[in-house]
Amino acid sequence: MKLSVNFIICNNLYWVLCLCVALLWRVCGFKGLLFSMRFLYKPLTGVIKMASAAKKPKLSTAATSQSNGIPSKSNDIEEFMKKLQSKREETAASILDYKFNKKRVRIVSQEQMVPDKLEGVVYWMSRDSRVQDNWAFLFAQKLALKHEVPLHVCFCLIAKYLDASVRQFDFLIKGLEKVAADCKKLNISFHLLEGSGDEVLPQWVVKHNIGAVVCDFNPLRVPLGWLDGAKKKLKKDVPLIQVDAHNIVPCWVASEKQEYSARTIRNKINSKLDEYLTEFPPVIKHPYSAKFEPEPIDWDEAIVSREADKNVGPVDWARPGYDNALKMLKSFLDQRLKEFATKRNDPTKDALSNLSPWFHFGQISVQRVALCVQEHKGKQTESVNAFLEEAIVRRELADNFCFYCEHYDSIKGASNWAQKTLDDHRKDKRTHIYTLEQLAKSETHDDLWNSAQIQLVKEGKMHGFLRMYWAKKILEWTPTPEDALKYSIYLNDHYSIDGRDPNGYVGCMWSVCGIHDQGWAERAVFGKIRYMNYEGCKRKFDIKAFIARYGGKVHKYVPKK
Ligand SMILES: Cc1cc2nc3c(=O)[nH]c(=O)nc-3n(C[C@H](O)[C@H](O)[C@H](O)COP(=O)(O)OP(=O)(O)OC[C@H]3O[C@@H](n4cnc5c(N)ncnc54)[C@H](O)[C@@H]3O)c2cc1C
Repeated sequence: MKLSVNFIICNNLYWVLCLCVALLWRVCGFKGLLFSMRFLYKPLTGVIKMASAAKKPKLSTAATSQSNGIPSKSNDIEEFMKKLQSKREETAASILDYKFNKKRVRIVSQEQMVPDKLEGVVYWMSRDSRVQDNWAFLFAQKLALKHEVPLHVCFCLIAKYLDASVRQFDFLIKGLEKVAADCKKLNISFHLLEGSGDEVLPQWVVKHNIGAVVCDFNPLRVPLGWLDGAKKKLKKDVPLIQVDAHNIVPCWVASEKQEYSARTIRNKINSKLDEYLTEFPPVIKHPYSAKFEPEPIDWDEAIVSREADKNVGPVDWARPGYDNALKMLKSFLDQRLKEFATKRNDPTKDALSNLSPWFHFGQISVQRVALCVQEHKGKQTESVNAFLEEAIVRRELADNFCFYCEHYDSIKGASNWAQKTLDDHRKDKRTHIYTLEQLAKSETHDDLWNSAQIQLVKEGKMHGFLRMYWAKKILEWTPTPEDALKYSIYLNDHYSIDGRDPNGYVGCMWSVCGIHDQGWAERAVFGKIRYMNYEGCKRKFDIKAFIARYGGKVHKYVPKK
């Protein structure tokens, strides 16, 4: 129907155009015709564009590929990079001239003194794989400069990590390749060690007579285990020092306990931003050269030799590395930030930063992004405030939860009211039950859900609003809340570039078991857990356009016997 209306509009436009041309020819002759066409051209192309746009689903291009964030001019990015570097240099000549805020630091091992005879300091890089704007890197350089020794960076690469696929390893490893190149320019040697930090780092430290290990901070179970193992194996006189390079307000400073919700942590974080949301000094060219060469690294081999699902490969729109993160940031500042306050919950609009892949791997600092976004506060106050709420308060709340709650990915981690209500409704009849495989293949009766799942699988990131709907439907369509949590975490970790992140665990826990939320009107299956439905989505955005873009189908439901 829509198509035929468009056809009639276009057809009529064609005849009107012909008539105009004939009339002008007759009245003004050929030159006059050409002159008039210059004025006619603009409005006419506008009308024709409008008519043809009406044929397509109403989606901006980024929602299809999340890629229009990458601006075309590389000069702009170089300028942007230079501007950031001058800001660092204006702040201090190096970290030695800068008053480092010691509250960013935790001494993990007993020893606090660096041994007298040391041949180097190492930054054990893990969650924050970038050089500049990295408090852990800066602290390591501070120690090395103070003791006049070489600075090394080690990344310990494991064969398999949770449910990560090649997509995420590719992003990580290609990002590290760029880190290694940046380190080289700064006379800092980069080492890729095969194995987990607790297995391989302590021996490497002994072998090279390293006097101090600085590491970054990750509140998740597996990296905390590496930290604990390394602490036990490192020699007693080698201090192990942890710096929170991921959060703006260090996790242990923001709060000393598990917070109940955004409401209870917001002021604790915001009241400390004057102290912590500061400019960075630069990591500088290191004056003391390493006494040994790093082992050569075969970067391609490092990717292919991971034990990860190779069917889930890299995506085009999100390319790894600090330079690509900056491109995405620049396009956000120039094009999308202005819409963030009003359109961020509409999956058919292009209003998000799309920065979560780079944030997750620490390829860009959230603090740097927050500083850049803040510069727009005068003109885009609401959008800036909304972004800082998400990127600082909500994100740091997720770290708080995972750091203080042992059961951050299990129903046991939910509040008592939530556990009780889910239990009360454990036996409620489910209208639909799907297996993990059906969910992964987007084979449900819900075309919107299927489209969101297709977006996740194809693009490696689902729109933030749909992530909530998506996980809540998994609760509705699986036999138990435990299954729902397990499946949503698996799918998120396996396909999403930003998965395996505190934000992901908290996102799934919020959707399935009400973490950081309150109780709502009681209903089947969900109990008092907040409910979301298809009709609600319809009222919020043009779901037809979203479905048309991703092609989710309505699959006939066949109950399993
Ligand atoms: C079921 C579910 C799963 C999720 N899984 C992940 C995940 O694996 N990794 C991940 O980073 N986020 C996850 N989120 C949180 C949020 O949806 C994403 O951070 C956001 O969609 C990332 O896109 P963006 O960078 O364009 O976000 P923007 O809206 O541009 O926000 C900027 C940044 O703020 C932070 N942020 C935004 N929303 C939230 C939030 N609700 N909670 C915490 N931090 C937030 C993120 O760091 C994000 O990159 C999940 C949410 C849900 C409901």
